[in-house]
Amino acid sequence: MRDPVSFLGQEYADLVRQELDWKLRVLEGPSAPWCQIDGKRVLMFCSNNYLGLSNHPRLKAAATRAVETHGVGSGSVRPIAGNMDLHVELEHRLAKFKGAEASLVYQSGFAANSGLIPQLAGEGDLIVSDELNHGSIIDGVRLSRAERAVYHHTDVDDLRKVLGTAEAHAPAYRRILVITDGVFSMDGDIAPLDRIAAVAGEHGAMVYVDDAHGEGVLGAGGRGIVSHFSLRRDQVHVEMGTFSKAFGVVGGHISGSRSLVDFAYNRSRTWLLSGSHPPPVAAACLAAIDVLESEPEHVTRLWEHTRRFKKAMKDLGFRTGKSETPITPIMVGESGLAKRLSQRLFELGVFALPIVFPMVAKDQARIRTIMNAALTADDVTFAISAFEKAGRELHLL
Ligand SMILES: *Cc1c(COP(=O)(O)O)cnc(C)c1O
Repeated sequence: MRDPVSFLGQEYADLVRQELDWKLRVLEGPSAPWCQIDGKRVLMFCSNNYLGLSNHPRLKAAATRAVETHGVGSGSVRPIAGNMDLHVELEHRLAKFKGAEASLVYQSGFAANSGLIPQLAGEGDLIVSDELNHGSIIDGVRLSRAERAVYHHTDVDDLRKVLGTAEAHAPAYRRILVITDGVFSMDGDIAPLDRIAAVAGEHGAMVYVDDAHGEGVLGAGGRGIVSHFSLRRDQVHVEMGTFSKAFGVVGGHISGSRSLVDFAYNRSRTWLLSGSHPPPVAAACLAAIDVLESEPEHVTRLWEHTRRFKKAMKDLGFRTGKSETPITPIMVGESGLAKRLSQRLFELGVFALPIVFPMVAKDQARIRTIMNAALTADDVTFAISAFEKAGRELHLL
């Protein structure tokens, strides 16, 4: 008899053989600047917790309070019985923070992209996507019946060409959706959203930006990429983001017009059919907005550390790619070498993950560092020294 599940073990063994399997490290305690991972005290240098908010006293206090007042679960999906005052207040506060008419909170950023994109464009429509967009966008696009086109990474001339071709399409597309990451997570470069919005505008296309890595980082007080480029809401129709990165908690969200939000929650199956956030999550997200509005020093410090670290890496002779944000890739080339560098850094007390094929091209392996505002200047010095030592040992410098 054929074993119907033998492929599971075989495929996993293949991954292990090719060294493409994820080897999970265990964080034994909070995601703090100095944390314990697999029994070793190390400097966290690759979390998305840019501002240190996941361990901020105001967020922790808000979450604890919400457990007391509202319990640990919401009891339902939001359209039935799980729409709590905390969820509604969070959306009001987020819209105000973003300067948008309205916001909608999803269970995760992944749920926002995969639930909303296929509703915005369907049969007879076209989705135009940057070639390096995040996997959750790619899945959202795959769930849509729309036709797809890809433009070269951040290449606005190519986008113009794609949209020009689309205009000549017969029968004419009903709707066109242009979609891009705001900050690209592997390289740390910023989408030229001002020019993307201008070109999309010339062709009457909707613009959707996924600002997961731009929020809390770019723009006035960390308000994100739309603020960074001072764009108007009628130029960027969907600003999507997440509470799981700089906001330090979990949850996805979109901001835009009232009609966008009304449409989105009535149409997104990921929103309609999945339980709403536990009260402590919503309360902690609210507190994160409070902190961003009242403690601007976190964003300031994030950029101070970032500028210093980037300069130090360049001065040492590391290649850091085209990053413009607190994501600084240390380009290594070959996968094995990136893994050895990461391992050596870990031994020296710095936790920074290697990014290798298939996440990036085979010869583009790198260590992806992500700066954190909760680090002290001494911590950054410590990290720079570790990179220098490991880099020399592995003949990268
Ligand atoms: C992390 C990320 C997401 C997913 O967000 P979650 O809230 O963690 O599900 C979506 N898009 C981009 C660009 C991301 O970096």
